[in-house]
This record gives sequence, C-alpha cells and structure tokens, in this order.
Amino acid sequence: MDEVRAGRPCPICEAPMYRRHCKYVCPQHGVIFDCADPFN
Ligand SMILES: [Zn+2]
Repeated sequence: MDEVRAGRPCPICEAPMYRRHCKYVCPQHGVIFDCADPFN
C-alpha cells in the first residue's frame, strides 16, 4: 500500500502518476507534487 495509482496524469507527459506517501510521482519525471501542494 506504499504506492498506489493516483489516477492523475503527469502534467508534463500525461503518464499516470503514482501517489507515494504524500507525493505524486511520475514514472518518468519523478516527484511532481508533494505535501506542500494543496493538491489532494
Ligand atoms: Zn511525467
């Protein structure tokens, strides 16, 4: 349960991102958003 699909596309490449803890991670670009963003 550490990584789940967030259901949000990467804003750069539109690949489906993963949500890892409180970070959104693109498989190609790495962390896109983290806890500091008002993006839940
Ligand atoms: Zn990306």
